[in-house]
Amino acid sequence: MTYAEIRKRGARRRRYMMLLILLIGVLIFAVVKIVLNTVHPKVLPAEAPPGDIVPVLEETTESFPVVTNPSTQKETLPPPTKRSSEGGTIHVKQPYLYLRINHSKKIPLILSNNVTADQITWTTDDANIVDVEPDGTVTGLQKGTCTVIANYEDEALEIPVTVRELVTIAGCTYVDGILVANKTYSLPPDYDPGLLPVTKEAFDLLMADAAEEGLNIYEGSGYRDYKFQETCYNSMVRGYNKSYADTWSARPGHSEHQTGYTIDCNTKNEAFGETDEGKWLAAHCYEYGFIIRYPKGKEKITGYNYESWHIRYVGKEHARIIHDQDITLEEYLDIDSAYHDGDPDAAVLGEDSESE
Ligand SMILES: [Zn+2]
Repeated sequence: MTYAEIRKRGARRRRYMMLLILLIGVLIFAVVKIVLNTVHPKVLPAEAPPGDIVPVLEETTESFPVVTNPSTQKETLPPPTKRSSEGGTIHVKQPYLYLRINHSKKIPLILSNNVTADQITWTTDDANIVDVEPDGTVTGLQKGTCTVIANYEDEALEIPVTVRELVTIAGCTYVDGILVANKTYSLPPDYDPGLLPVTKEAFDLLMADAAEEGLNIYEGSGYRDYKFQETCYNSMVRGYNKSYADTWSARPGHSEHQTGYTIDCNTKNEAFGETDEGKWLAAHCYEYGFIIRYPKGKEKITGYNYESWHIRYVGKEHARIIHDQDITLEEYLDIDSAYHDGDPDAAVLGEDSESE
């Protein structure tokens, strides 16, 4: 064998060896892959779209770390506490609370799963604004907003609270700047602003927009001063008696028409609420800053029968909340509406309530 032949044979052997090593390597890789796929078939979805790699936590082992996208990971993890009134143990009828300074209200909870009220603990995020007692009684301390929280195990139900201040200026009562006239709060005889420009401007806009939809809304009765109301009321007292007069006419100073913010639309007639105009007014007046002041079903709160025609200007922001939460001005401002003169007839509500 020549030297050249020996070199050739050596080279051929090395090539065979390399091929063999390569083949063994491929075989080992294939076997390992098959085995692993059998053991962990669902580690990753076969066709995971880019950027949407979903972690399959129950299939993950330490030897197979799964790349997780932080944004999707956040969604798959349960939140530390339930911050919702839905689906939990603690529910509330009204997910908000309005309070005046020095007024107290107990937040009524609806509890499920045999949970009792004494298992609930109460906290607030601002102890300067409200005080919360262990039974859920909340007292307004100063003007402002905060959150009261009902806690049960890992659940936390948050109730936003607004505390308002009632002030009296020159005989007029204001709650957070909103002038109040109802059975409890009256206006002095010399308060005589006429229909206020802000009310008229908003009502003109309301009328124009209604007219564009082919609806005829107009001012039936707007401003009434103290003297006029006094004349109406006194003639009723003379003609009948005080308790009869109280069921039909506001006492002088107690009529909301004296505020300058109130309009009776079209005709004072129960049928108005069923007209296209009445329905449009109920659905849209808040968009112009008005509320239906004496809603149906709230007679005991407002002290007046349902009046589909009587609207009150409170500004767009307040009107939207009052409309959305389906509440009255009394509830929104945490005030009552009843004559406090010990005359039982004057406080009779419901069907005998007076008309405004
Ligand atoms: Zn009215």
